[in-house]
Amino acid sequence: MGFIVQKFGGSSVADAEGIKRVARRVVDTQARGNQVVVVVSAMGDSTDELLDLAAQVSNAPHAREMDMLLSAGERISMALLAMAINALGASAQSFTGSQAGMITDAIHGKARIIDVSPHRIRTAIEKGDVAIVAGFQGMSRDSNDITTLGRGGSDTTAVALAAALKADVCEIYTDVDGVYTADPRVVPSARKIDTISSQEMLEMAASGAKILHLRCVEYARRFGVPLHVRSSFSHHEGTWVLPSPDDQTTIQEGEPLEQPIISGVAHDRSEAKVTVVGVPDIPGKAAEIFGIVAGAHTNIDMIVQNVSTHGSGRTDISFTLPIVDGAAALAALGEAQARVGYEAVDYNEKIGKLSLIGAGMRSNPGVSYRFFRALSDAGVNIDMISTSEIRISVVTSADLLDTAVRAVHAAFELDGDAAATVYAGSGR
Ligand code: ADP
Ligand code: ASP
Ligand code: MG
Repeated sequence: MGFIVQKFGGSSVADAEGIKRVARRVVDTQARGNQVVVVVSAMGDSTDELLDLAAQVSNAPHAREMDMLLSAGERISMALLAMAINALGASAQSFTGSQAGMITDAIHGKARIIDVSPHRIRTAIEKGDVAIVAGFQGMSRDSNDITTLGRGGSDTTAVALAAALKADVCEIYTDVDGVYTADPRVVPSARKIDTISSQEMLEMAASGAKILHLRCVEYARRFGVPLHVRSSFSHHEGTWVLPSPDDQTTIQEGEPLEQPIISGVAHDRSEAKVTVVGVPDIPGKAAEIFGIVAGAHTNIDMIVQNVSTHGSGRTDISFTLPIVDGAAALAALGEAQARVGYEAVDYNEKIGKLSLIGAGMRSNPGVSYRFFRALSDAGVNIDMISTSEIRISVVTSADLLDTAVRAVHAAFELDGDAAATVYAGSGR
């Protein structure tokens, strides 16, 4: 007998049929002798639809009310799934995030989990029920208000519950058969990865592969929760994200022991580029600028400073940030223009980021050469570059991003034998 946390994403519970299909799967899992806790996302694209509705009634909806609104999406699917399971003759109870003991800080829209006390979930499970928990939400102990964890946050709810309840595994059910070497919607020939280390999965998620929420991967690694990413539309074995990187590498006989192991290509369209033009080239200015941006609760990603043209005494500083944080960062920078003494700010949302992820890349110059050669052969111009031990990222224009992803994927011979199946979802 095992203890399994199963998380079903929006595309798996998009309509009544989907909810009934998921209900059967949950009941089957329980009938095989397992204790099951289920975490659900909002149906289909309903979170986006709620966001659109909010934009129609207000230019600047209060963050507290936004969380009240968005948390409703998951409440709808949790109750419907409980009904569908009960209709099959099993017994299920649904719980909101706060009923399930998901305690967060008070930062609406990107709340962080500070405590998980799932007493009611434990009681329900011990009674033989299936416990269904609304993903992506919690409650702040300070304000007693409902919070949400940020887009894609149901994955993190699932792992946090799996860790607190000491589950054997956390299964993330979605609309593809696992983690692929690239998004199968962009690269149909992408290959499914059987096992991936949590470090590489972290880089993939941080680079925009939205198959898993970044914080879910971090949490799973910290608490040693094995993750199994798989499709709710098939019974194929999915991708295992292993908590320890050492478990992963299997070297075939005759293979060189030190060689880069490329895990995949990720892309991201959710960032914008800000360029602060004509910054006085004196010590302290970069700190001032990033202090201002941090004060607006913005996460910065890539940073480039252009060398000042000789004698001008001024320089340009560019950085990328999530589009959703763009307005706040621009407002904060605008207010400080006179104090910082820069000349202008440029803002561009039509960018895309592409990242190649794999162990042992930094120490292998051939990898960078092959990467940049592939991009130049495909006619893709590069705007910004950043690297880490196991990642190379570039910013390109948004309209060339798909071409760039396919070119790099092909250059590193990552294609699989068969075309990947995308079972559902809009990719939104
Ligand atoms: P869910 O609704 O189940 O949360 P998401 O839309 O958040 O699903 O995540 C699944 C999607 O992630 C897939 O449909 C796919 O388009 C996208 N994706 C991006 N990168 C990858 C990758 N490397 N492997 C698999 N899927 C990926
Ligand atoms: N429903 C939320 C979203 O669409 C959370 C999630 O699906 O994980 O972002
Ligand atoms: Mg998701």
